[in-house]
Amino acid sequence: MGMELKLKKYAKLLVEVGVNIQKGQRLVINCPVECAEFARLCISAAYDAGCSEVVMNWSDDFAAREKYLRADSSVFESYPVWQREFLNGYAREGAAFLKIYASDPENLKGVDPARIASAQRVAGEAVEEYRRLQMVNGFAWCIASIPIDSWAKRVFEGDDAENAKTKLWDAIFKAVRIDENADPVELWHEHLARLEERKNILNSYRFKYLKYKNALGTDLCIELPENHRWEAGNDRTLSGTPFVANMPTEEVFTAPKRDGVNGVVFASLPLVQDGNIIEGIKFVLKDGKIVEAYASKGEETLRAAISVDEGASFLGEVALVPYDSPISNMGILFYNTLFDENASCHLAFGEAYPSCLEGGSEMSKEELLKAGLNDSIAHEDFMIGTADLSVTGVTCDGKEIPIMRDGNFVF
Ligand code: ZN
Ligand code: ZN
Repeated sequence: MGMELKLKKYAKLLVEVGVNIQKGQRLVINCPVECAEFARLCISAAYDAGCSEVVMNWSDDFAAREKYLRADSSVFESYPVWQREFLNGYAREGAAFLKIYASDPENLKGVDPARIASAQRVAGEAVEEYRRLQMVNGFAWCIASIPIDSWAKRVFEGDDAENAKTKLWDAIFKAVRIDENADPVELWHEHLARLEERKNILNSYRFKYLKYKNALGTDLCIELPENHRWEAGNDRTLSGTPFVANMPTEEVFTAPKRDGVNGVVFASLPLVQDGNIIEGIKFVLKDGKIVEAYASKGEETLRAAISVDEGASFLGEVALVPYDSPISNMGILFYNTLFDENASCHLAFGEAYPSCLEGGSEMSKEELLKAGLNDSIAHEDFMIGTADLSVTGVTCDGKEIPIMRDGNFVF
């Protein structure tokens, strides 16, 4: 199958299964300028599916880096009104949002972390309505990636840009199930049904605690809120339209109890955070709060990320991914959380998804907090899965049920 056809299949998949665009609905595409050609395929696929208007929101690594290095400090202390209204307004009307994510993992290396943290804080507050609606699935959204030179060369060090990009395309097509002989839409429906089964098993146990252990030194006990709910990749908007927020997706996930996490956890993969690579993360948690944070590389970036606000130093997601997942079996470190999180069990610091609690999508922030769900403008996944990871569930009556052994699901 030629490249051209594969690209068209991928664009159609993102539009029709990812955001699942509805007739007469508007689509906002966030996309780096380097990915314009692929964005155009998505634009056509969207109009084919009956989209009323595609609105482009372009970004650029170069412009972002130059701005962080050279713009006036005051720029990072406020957020433009028109930009605020752009996101909040389209979110409010129920437009779909497709994000083509592609970035140099070290694009912001050397930038003052205080500038990044300040920009995030003001943006987080300004587009609170948009973020809120995204977290409760008030609109359909999908994040996917395509290769750009800088990213591909980081993944396949030693290759020239063309070779690296070809290899990365192959890996991405495999991860998102673009296959020569099959309809990706059908493959996705089968895949989502399998995740759904796993989710239902986990929900049936109504676990009170999850206990993690491996040879890296992770020894962590995570309490789950009463009435928590495991979720999988097949989301639904509040008005009932199915969509898939991450492509690829291999995880089942829920929310930890904000003040119920204790122990030590070691990351098993590097984390790309704010245009910097962080390696060798170790967190010590007490009553839910990260009280000690270390990294062998990028410690300053890590510390800034978990202090963006009060909630950033508490956990907001616990996700299970088998060590033998199709993505981890490729043996590629993607330096892109969208892929790396789907190759590994992970946790997130920052905000929890309200849908991970029974009735949570209709609750106010205060009600969610009271029920044990964390709130923050941050939400960052970090990978903790290893080949020897064991995860044990503890039920309300104290029974211990093995969930994962040697990195893989027992059931
Ligand atoms: Zn996740
Ligand atoms: Zn997450």
